Amino acid sequence: MCAARLGPAERSAALERMAARELDVVVVGGGVVGAGVALDAATRGLDTGLVEARDFASGTSSRSSKLIHGGLRYLEQLNFELVREALQERSLLLQRIAPHLVRPVPFLFPMTHRFWERPYVGAGVALYDTLGLATGLTRGVPGHRHLSRSRALRLAPALKKSAFTGAVQYWDAQVDDARYVMTLLRTAATYGAHVAPRTQVVGFLREGERVTGVRARDLESGAELEIRARQVVNATGVWTDDIQELVGGRGQIHVRASKGIHLVVPRDRIHSLTGLILRTEKSVLFVIPWGRHWIIGTTDTRWTLDKSHPAASRADIDYLLDHVNAVLSVPLTRDDVEGVYAGLRPLLSGESEETSKLSREHVVAHPVPGLVMIAGGKYTTYRVMARDAVDAVVHGLDQRVPPSCTDRVPLVGAEGYQALWNSRHRLAHSSGLHVARIEHLLQRYGSLTGEVLEVVEGDPSLGRPLTGADDYLRAEIVYAATHEGARHLNDVLTRRTRISIETFHRGQAVAQEAAELLAGPLGWTGEQVKREVEYFTKRVEAERCSQEQDSDQEADAIRLGAPEIVPVVAPERA
Ligand SMILES: Cc1cc2nc3c(=O)[nH]c(=O)nc-3n(C[C@H](O)[C@H](O)[C@H](O)COP(=O)(O)OP(=O)(O)OC[C@H]3O[C@@H](n4cnc5c(N)ncnc54)[C@H](O)[C@@H]3O)c2cc1C
Repeated sequence: MCAARLGPAERSAALERMAARELDVVVVGGGVVGAGVALDAATRGLDTGLVEARDFASGTSSRSSKLIHGGLRYLEQLNFELVREALQERSLLLQRIAPHLVRPVPFLFPMTHRFWERPYVGAGVALYDTLGLATGLTRGVPGHRHLSRSRALRLAPALKKSAFTGAVQYWDAQVDDARYVMTLLRTAATYGAHVAPRTQVVGFLREGERVTGVRARDLESGAELEIRARQVVNATGVWTDDIQELVGGRGQIHVRASKGIHLVVPRDRIHSLTGLILRTEKSVLFVIPWGRHWIIGTTDTRWTLDKSHPAASRADIDYLLDHVNAVLSVPLTRDDVEGVYAGLRPLLSGESEETSKLSREHVVAHPVPGLVMIAGGKYTTYRVMARDAVDAVVHGLDQRVPPSCTDRVPLVGAEGYQALWNSRHRLAHSSGLHVARIEHLLQRYGSLTGEVLEVVEGDPSLGRPLTGADDYLRAEIVYAATHEGARHLNDVLTRRTRISIETFHRGQAVAQEAAELLAGPLGWTGEQVKREVEYFTKRVEAERCSQEQDSDQEADAIRLGAPEIVPVVAPERA
């Protein structure tokens, strides 16, 4: 099966088709949950559409800790079922659904108390490993092991000797969260779903009490369209309450936002062969290997300000630095911080009696005929959430629809990935690229790597790395626009690549080159190129400045000073 493209022509066609006839289901929100719902519905044979107000994964789903995990800390809360479910999903994603995108990652748990702590932590990780044995699949990651302090120091020489007495190492998994969502949506489109980014739902169509579709605005052209559907699924995360207001009434699900921020530092600043998990007063803090970098996070504070651009304050950054420095022999300073990002957890609050509680973590509700709401949960269990939401859709459709099959549907790029990985040296030879470069491509595109190499074949200058962000090829920027639904410079530098958090210049040094590469596939004029660079630069500067502010209020006010990208007025080209 050929993987669908999500280029400009496909977006226009998707909008046309969604406006032309009544769909079985339209999904509002292109985060991991909405994307999962679209794939679940499409693979059950339902005529499915999805609209996302901004870029795919531009909400919480590009701003997480990027872990596919059961959550060791939930074991302490005796939430075994929740951990088991998430670990089963981890096995599935690692081994069947997305082996090209989801990878095992080791964590060291340094202990600070002699005697009681080792048996306590040891029992926890042993249980964690056991719960990870999903039916029919192996765990997909190595088992835990106990380490003396000196063996732990050999693995993580950066640790301060006096900060711990011994350690346990265990394994979890990680993913590029934004890339995963885009790949889910390409997979959904491959199975026939119509997918449109930068299309915001501004109202609902009603027949009496029944919801019969949505009114949406194409944010690129300003045009409004009506999308009729037998069922609408709201998967808007922290925007759930706003959507409920559009429907009218108080709604059954209430979601509040809790902010979590992360820092990105270069790999050489922390000398370690393993990730770290550290206890904090309230929760845990992760130091996660991320290519040539470490991701350090996270925080947990209530957020009531702008949901589209949550801002990290100086206090948030200092909190993370203080906690990680407590265990490092060479402390990090603010000068070591390359990137900072903030995200909002969609936490359920005050759901009413009628709400159908399908797990402790997420809820699905059918507040009025024609509308299904899904909220809460976490990234790792998106597939279970999607299945539950589509089961509710089917309930409202009044027709026979097959059960969910997404546990057996590999994402695009998964099929043939292992064989290509094994042939990576041959591929390097035939393409003329270094094997390290081919590995990078395989871990981002899986068996679709050939499509990126075709772009290079068509124009060898695109086989060069970007100046100032040489982890990425120029071809990847072009491919992001032609195949991966990127519409703006920010989409490419922040989510298709992670240049805006992986470089000290935060993308500014490559903005002009990247914008010029996007101009062809997106049909931009010189004026639009200039505007894209200008808006991106303003965004980066506002973020930097907000991170110098002491409070959330000040940080938010400054971040809001940089507007969203203005709509493109130039005609689109395929
Ligand atoms: C700091 C942090 C760390 C985390 N770490 C992890 C982790 O390591 N592992 C894990 O499993 N989970 C983690 N999570 C949780 C996980 O990231 C979230 O549960 C998940 O990403 C939520 O996805 P979502 O699709 O519900 O929401 P979102 O990703 O926010 O998607 C909702 C989408 O709806 C769109 N939208 C809103 N209004 C409209 C409208 N009117 N029309 C059209 N579209 C609209 C938004 O633009 C947005 O893209 C973390 C969360 C945070 C905040």
